[in-house]
Amino acid sequence: MVSVGVIRVKCDACKEIIKGKYIHFSDGSIFCNECFHYLPKCISCKKPIIGGEDSSIDGFCSICYNRAPKCDICEKAIIGSYTRFADKSISCDDCMKKYVKCDRCGKPVVRYTKIRGNILCRHCLTHATRCNVCSNPIIGTYWIFDKNYVCDYCYKIYERCNMCGMPSQFLFTVHDKKLCYTCQEKAKRCSACGLPIVGRYYSYKTKEGIFCEHCEHLAPHCDSCGRPLGIQYVDISDGRKICFECQRSAVITEEQLRELIKTANEGISSLGLKIVNNINYRLISRNLLDKRIKESGADIAAGKNLGLFQRKDEKMNIYLQTHLPIQLALGTICHEIAHAWLSENVINKTQPLHLREGFCEWVSYKILQKFGYHGQAELILSRDDIYGLGFQKFLDYEKKNGIKALLDWAKIAR
Ligand SMILES: [Zn+2]
Ligand SMILES: [Zn+2]
Ligand SMILES: [Zn+2]
Ligand SMILES: [Zn+2]
Ligand SMILES: [Zn+2]
Ligand SMILES: [Zn+2]
Ligand SMILES: [Zn+2]
Ligand SMILES: [Zn+2]
Repeated sequence: MVSVGVIRVKCDACKEIIKGKYIHFSDGSIFCNECFHYLPKCISCKKPIIGGEDSSIDGFCSICYNRAPKCDICEKAIIGSYTRFADKSISCDDCMKKYVKCDRCGKPVVRYTKIRGNILCRHCLTHATRCNVCSNPIIGTYWIFDKNYVCDYCYKIYERCNMCGMPSQFLFTVHDKKLCYTCQEKAKRCSACGLPIVGRYYSYKTKEGIFCEHCEHLAPHCDSCGRPLGIQYVDISDGRKICFECQRSAVITEEQLRELIKTANEGISSLGLKIVNNINYRLISRNLLDKRIKESGADIAAGKNLGLFQRKDEKMNIYLQTHLPIQLALGTICHEIAHAWLSENVINKTQPLHLREGFCEWVSYKILQKFGYHGQAELILSRDDIYGLGFQKFLDYEKKNGIKALLDWAKIAR
């Protein structure tokens, strides 16, 4: 049996049964000829937009509009090519042509900020790493100094810190060096000039403090302890300059001298040394001391002498340079008292110099140790001149034979 029928086709737009010619699309939608010509077409799928102009969005049918990617700049739906950026946002070709681009992220920008000729979008302006020097957002090349970012502009135009190498608009001048704020804050300070230390510095074995290269080489040094002097120091009339620390313990007055002699004698008798004759003590200036030493015929460089022992028959004099700090004064006076002891006990007047001086240094060393002036005592220990040579002989002798035997040996050693 053959059944004959008519396929009744409805137009998707007007819902009327189509009589005559009709147009159909691959998705199965069908339009009558009239609707097809009369309705606006979607610019994407080319199909008639069923609701007419009112249903068209920017020339798209609603389905195509919803499916189409939207430009993040103009917010319009995009047909065809577009540009995608690192943050996944997209721009239509029109916007790419129409607007300037951000120099950091490359996106087209409607509103932007210009920094040193560079265009920055709002996002980049708030999110870009800032230069540690000019605090502008960094675009392109940059430098890192210990976790600090510096833009290429600042790196090229500003002077750099001599310590960390970072460029800075504000550098502190420290002698012939330049330091940034951070470096000058955290740098060690020179004990003389108080300025931050750049590079190497110096210290003194027996005294506290660290000193910058500038002070070590160019500042006057304390005549007592040898350390560089700061802005303030004590000027002694004989031309010496001494630091405040040395001044504080300096032996200057007759009373201080008496106190010193008392301490020295206590040390002298503790070693078992006895001096028969009376010793006359005097504090004198450096110049006068040099003069006395010259008169006595001793061959010692001027300015380096701290004390002198003189004997004329039974008359014994000890001269001590004034303004010596206590440890230096004690070491010196004990050395000279030891000479007095030798003058009474050594019969052989031709005893070699290194033995005489060595013995006196040994006495000085023992007494300095006894009173806790270990730093000053160590200076004797490290001497490598003729005094040091003789001193070592006595120190070795003491270790082997004890103090009592040493005193007997000192009288006859040659
Ligand atoms: Zn129709
Ligand atoms: Zn469409
Ligand atoms: Zn766009
Ligand atoms: Zn940007
Ligand atoms: Zn900068
Ligand atoms: Zn620095
Ligand atoms: Zn200094
Ligand atoms: Zn000093």
